[in-house]
Amino acid sequence: VPLRLQIFTHVRGAGRAARADITRALGVSAGSVTPAVAELIAMGLLREVEEPARDPGRDGARGRPPVALEVVPGTRPVVGVKLGADRHTAVLTDLSGAMLAEAALPASAGRRPAARLLDETAALIDRLLAAAGRPACDLAGLGLGLAGLVDHHAGRVAWSPLLTEREVDLRAFAEARFGLPVQIDNDANLLTLAELWFGAGRATSDFVVVTIEQGVGMGLVLGGRLMRGTRGMGMELGHTKVALDGALCRCGRRGCLEAYVADYALAREAATALALDRPLPPAQALEALFAAARAGDGAAREIFDRARRYLALGLSNVVQIFDPALIILSGERMRYDYLCAEAVIAEMAALGLPQGRPPARVEVHAWGDLAWARGAAALALAAVTEALLG
Ligand SMILES: [Zn+2]
Repeated sequence: VPLRLQIFTHVRGAGRAARADITRALGVSAGSVTPAVAELIAMGLLREVEEPARDPGRDGARGRPPVALEVVPGTRPVVGVKLGADRHTAVLTDLSGAMLAEAALPASAGRRPAARLLDETAALIDRLLAAAGRPACDLAGLGLGLAGLVDHHAGRVAWSPLLTEREVDLRAFAEARFGLPVQIDNDANLLTLAELWFGAGRATSDFVVVTIEQGVGMGLVLGGRLMRGTRGMGMELGHTKVALDGALCRCGRRGCLEAYVADYALAREAATALALDRPLPPAQALEALFAAARAGDGAAREIFDRARRYLALGLSNVVQIFDPALIILSGERMRYDYLCAEAVIAEMAALGLPQGRPPARVEVHAWGDLAWARGAAALALAAVTEALLG
C-alpha cells in the first residue's frame, strides 16, 4: 500500500492527526512522511489545522500552537444508495465520510427491470443533490447496495429480489447512466463496511455482522478487512443448511437458515397458526403473529421460539468457525423484538463448546436505512481513495 494512501487512511480514521502521530502509528520515518503529506495537501485532500492547546494556561503564550492534519471538508463528495423493497435511501458524504445530506424515496412495488431501478436511483440522487445544493458534476463516485447475490468484483447481480432479470451487469449499466465510477455490493456487506469505517471497526479488527431483513445476511471482517470470498459474493449465512430435507427456501433449496427465520418464513407459518382465510403481506402477518404470541397464543409462541433456536444455531456455527471478538446483530429493531435477542444470545452460548473459549460478545445495533446508505458511501469512498492514491 503506498505511503500516501496509508497516511490519508490514518488521518481519515483518526479525524485529526499530527505528523508525529502519523509517524508513530505507521512506524515510518518522519523524513518520508513530510513529502507525502505535502503531496496530499497539494492534491487538496488534507489541510493543516491548529490543535487547541491542551493546557492554555501554561502553553498558550508560548510559540505556535501545535498543527494537526485533517481531510479537507466537503471535498470529492460521493453518493451512497441503499435500494430497498419498501424505500430507497441515499446519503452524500465527503471524502472524510462526513455526511453532507440525506434523502429517501418510496420504492416501486415488486420486481422491475434494471433500467427502471436505475430510473428510481436517478430520481433519488436528484433529490439528494437538491437537498445538498450541489451540482451532479461535483460527484466523485457512487456506491449502490441491494439485497441478493451480488458479485462486487465483477459488478454483476446474479439475482436480486428487486430485479426481474438475472445476471445483470448493474455496475456497467449504472456507470453508463450516471457517468461516474460505480461500486455495487450486497446490503449485508454495506452494513459491515459502515461498521468498519464508522462504528465497531474503530475498536475491533475481527467481527461479524448478521442482518435479518427480508433474508439473513452476514458480513465478515478479519484483520480489519472485509472478506468477500473468491467470487466476491460475500457470506451467505442465510443459505447455510440447518436441516436436511428441511423447509423450502426462496433460493429453491431446502433447509436453509433463512427458511426458518426470515420474515417470509414466519409469515408463511402465521397464515396457518392464525387460521387466516387469505395470506397477509409478510409485515402484517408478522405483526399479527407477534400480537398473538404476546397474548399467550401457544402456536404463535412456538413459531418464534423455533425461529430463535434456528438463529442461535446459525450464529453458534459462525462462532465455532471464525471465533470473532464481536457479533453485531443488525437490522430493524422490530425483528429483534420478535426474536428476543437476549434469548438468542443465551441459546447461542449454550450451543458453543463448553470448554476453552469465553462466549463471543454480542451487540444489537438497530440502525435505520441510513446506516446501509452510509455503508454504500464507504464502498464508493474506498474506491475513490484507491483511485486517487493507490
Ligand atoms: Zn436458501
